[in-house]
Amino acid sequence: MLQGLPMPGRTRPTARDVYRAQIGEKVDWLFPEHKWEKGKDRPGTLVCPRCHAISVQKRWFLDEDRYQRLRTMPGVHLVICPGCRRIQRQVYEGDVRLCSRLLLANKAQALAIIRREEDKARITNPFSRLASVVDYGDRIDVLTTTCWLAERIGKEFHKAFKGNLQLQRLPDEKFVRVRWTR
Ligand SMILES: [Zn+2]
Repeated sequence: MLQGLPMPGRTRPTARDVYRAQIGEKVDWLFPEHKWEKGKDRPGTLVCPRCHAISVQKRWFLDEDRYQRLRTMPGVHLVICPGCRRIQRQVYEGDVRLCSRLLLANKAQALAIIRREEDKARITNPFSRLASVVDYGDRIDVLTTTCWLAERIGKEFHKAFKGNLQLQRLPDEKFVRVRWTR
């Protein structure tokens, strides 16, 4: 771990914190923070234009056909969902590093595993998302919005390619570091 580099996780200032430092309290009337942005969902029917998640009766789920129908319906609110907000605010719970020369020859399969695990995780938890996937050739770095998704990716690589898997949960934070090497 390099010293002095900011750790991905909850310690990072939000865009609002940065604005507040620059322009002071003005940020609060320029960009009012709504109640539902602090984790409380708004009642009624909401759709997220970024990931197409839907919220009905304060429960978020995925249903593409229903999204397409609701999208233009009057009375339906367009809202950035908590999953997309986590990505926007750079709140990550999983940091995955996959290292192996095998990745060079199996890149398509490796990326497909990562995408497939996101698709599977989103069915049960729409906020389980890939925040970034960076390909360095024989290494792939992935940031996820939930611990669960990060661990799933590590386990699937271990299942597909064997090798060595380390899952390291941070003691006082909801954060996991996943390292797979072969
Ligand atoms: Zn969304």
